This record gives sequence, C-alpha cells and structure tokens, in this order.
Amino acid sequence: MISANTLLKRILNVKDTVVKSADFFISADGVANLKILARPRIHEDDRCPICGKHCSVYDRATYQRYWRALDFGGVIVHIAAYTQRINCAEHGVLVAAVPWAFHDSGFTKSFDLTATWMAENISRSAVAEYLRIDWKTVGRCITRARKYIEPDPKSRLDGLEKIGIDETSYRKGHKYITVVVNHDTNTVVWASDKHGKAVFSKFLTGLTDEQRSSIKVVTGDGAKWIDECIAQYLPECARCVDSFHVVEWAGEALDSLRKEAWRDAYQACRDLKQQVKRKRGRGALTDKDSIAVHNAETRASEIKGSTYTLGKAPEHLTNKQEVQLATIATGNKRLYRGYLLKEQLRLILHMDNEQDAKEELKHFFWRATHSRIQEFKDLGYKIRRHEEHILNTIKLKMSNARIEATNNKIKLIIRRAFGFRDVGNMIDMIMLVCSNIKVPLPNRPVKEQKT
Ligand SMILES: [Zn+2]
Repeated sequence: MISANTLLKRILNVKDTVVKSADFFISADGVANLKILARPRIHEDDRCPICGKHCSVYDRATYQRYWRALDFGGVIVHIAAYTQRINCAEHGVLVAAVPWAFHDSGFTKSFDLTATWMAENISRSAVAEYLRIDWKTVGRCITRARKYIEPDPKSRLDGLEKIGIDETSYRKGHKYITVVVNHDTNTVVWASDKHGKAVFSKFLTGLTDEQRSSIKVVTGDGAKWIDECIAQYLPECARCVDSFHVVEWAGEALDSLRKEAWRDAYQACRDLKQQVKRKRGRGALTDKDSIAVHNAETRASEIKGSTYTLGKAPEHLTNKQEVQLATIATGNKRLYRGYLLKEQLRLILHMDNEQDAKEELKHFFWRATHSRIQEFKDLGYKIRRHEEHILNTIKLKMSNARIEATNNKIKLIIRRAFGFRDVGNMIDMIMLVCSNIKVPLPNRPVKEQKT
C-alpha cells in the first residue's frame, strides 16, 4: 500500500520534496482546505532560484510561505514551507528555490502550467472561475510558464525566409502590438508593444547578419515604414502586400460609398413622403403613391442592411442576400458599380500568373479612375502605388488564406489576452499560442508536438 505522503507527492506532481504533514480544515466561508507542510529534499536545499547552484544560507524564515497547488476534487490545496534566503555569488540575496514552484511564484509549477494551458484553450471567465484566481494573475502564470518551456525564444529567429509583419490595436485603438510571423511555419517569432518604423527596426537590428541575410520575403500592409525598413536593412528582399489588406481597402471604399448611397436613399424617401402628403391633403393615399413610398423605403433599407452582402464573395451569398444584391443592381447603379470594382480587384488577387494580373490591374486602374466615384478613384491610385508589391505577392505565391488565418488567430489571442496588467504577459501568451509548443499538463506523458 502506498503511503499517504507518497500519494500526496504523486498527486501534487512534485519531485525532490519531503512531505512532513497534512492538515484538512473547513474555512470560515465554508471552503474545504488542505494544507501540506513540506520541505525540499536535503540535496535540493539552499539552491539559487536563478542559476540553480548551491549557495550559502543568508537567513532562515521564522514564518511559513504558501504556494497554491491545483485543487484536489474541489478542495483548495496549499503547500506550506519554511524557506531560507541564500546568498548567490552571482545573483545576490534571494529566497531559496523550492522544487515545486518557479522562482517568484505563489503557485506550484503544475498550477502555473495548467493555468497557461487553460488560458490558451478556454474562455477567460471560465479559467478565472475554475481556478479561483483573477485574469491578471493568469497573465503572470503564463509568463512564468513560458520562461520555463521556452528559455531561449531567440532560436525562433534562425533560418527565417518568408516573414510577415502586422500591427494590431487593442484598448480601443489606444495601444498597439506588433508581431512578426514566420510564414513557412505559421508561427509568431517575435512580438513587441507599440508599432511603426522604430519597432520593426528594433526587430531587424536585433537579428544577426546571418539571420538577416536568410530573409527573402517580407509581407505586410501598405505602410510606408515597412518599405523604408526593407530598403535600409534588407535591400535584397522582396516586399509583398498581404492580399487580405488590399481587399480590405476595397471593402472600406465600398462601405463609404454604401453609407453615402444610404443617406441619399433615405433623403429621397423622406422627400417623397412629404411630397405625397402635400399632394393628397386630407384625401386618401392613392395606390400609385403608396407603392412609390413603399419602394423608396425598401430601397433605403436594402442599402442600409447590405454591408455583409456587399463584402461577401458572390459564390458565398445566401438566397436572401442574392435578392438584396439584385435590388441594389437595379435600384442603385452607382453602388453596384463600386461592388463590381471590388469584386474585380478580389479576383485579380486570386490570379496566379503575374503577367495576366499585371494586365488586369491596368484595366482595373482605368475603370476605377473613370468610375466617377471618388472613393474608387482614390483606391485606383492607391493600388497603382502598391502595384509592384501586389505583383510580388502573386509571383511568389504567398498564400493569402494561410496568412489571413494566422493573422486572425493572433487578433483573437490579443483580444483574449486583453486585461493582463502587463503587456509582457500578453506577448508571452501570443508567443506560446502562435507556436508549435505544447504546454505540458501535470502527470501526463508528453504527447507529440502539434505542427
Ligand atoms: Zn545564482
């Protein structure tokens, strides 16, 4: 029969630890608690928490320190120990390392790792409620876990060939985070807060000459500072524009046109109603007038609710959306022209022959600049400015679907990590989730790494 102490150690998933006693009690608020008094095994005592070397003891604590462990079937578990401070020749006076917890943590290693695994996979509120800690604390667990799982993240920067740079805003657009993605592995290799030229320069200057010279392609949005950085640090490199950004530009132009069309249709509807009112005086509404008013109202409401219809690819429209599009095609020629231009551009970006795409872009430019729609005129010139980079994207076959999927995943993680007190916690979460690292769970054999 296994002893109670060994059983506790097995469940706690700790090594090099001596369990001295355990105490079960119900606290004043009715919560079941288990306090396990422990100490490191003699040869694990007096170690520096940073370098792991044996050190001389500086002083011994007269009170117990507590580490929260994972619950045992709903019972809150704490490990308690009398710790000592050591004096490391290199790192100074520090609380000695304990084998069950990472340095500077009030939780056990299993707890930190499990919190990280949960934060990656389930909702913020579920993690916080299940573990009975707040979301800010989860952020700190993630940072400690990452330090343990990936002590040297710099290795991600070796052998990069195709990279993408993207900035995302959070805190309602007040703060930014920039990530660099390795397109060959779909993993984030670097992340930093803030955005712009200074941040990308920081990334590029942090690379060794060898690391820099292996980079052949850089993708991103249309920002000028990306071009400037490439010219300065990676002159040999091909610059691409992510197709989904280009589609977004067209979408924005179309949306502003749609708003304008809706305002016009709404105004026309109001004018018509007033006209009819004046005409009929106290008499009844004629059939002809009521149909006209009804049609004007329908037109305005079809335009108002058409954002998704106009943004979607035609092959993905539902029956209802097809009807909506047909209404716009007959009732609002100008808006429909804008829609066709957006679709033309989207199809060009799907082409795989550079020469054909070049021809088509020429046609697009002519049609956009002769469309008598200011938004699309501007778009035409913008596309012309980025033509070389768009053609590079097509020539080098930078798969938009994959890049967009990675980009969306990063945005999702940033939204979820929002609320951490420290931006470093957020970066650690992005680096862990957008990688092929699997966070180990306690007492489970390590599975194959996901690819
Ligand atoms: Zn040390």
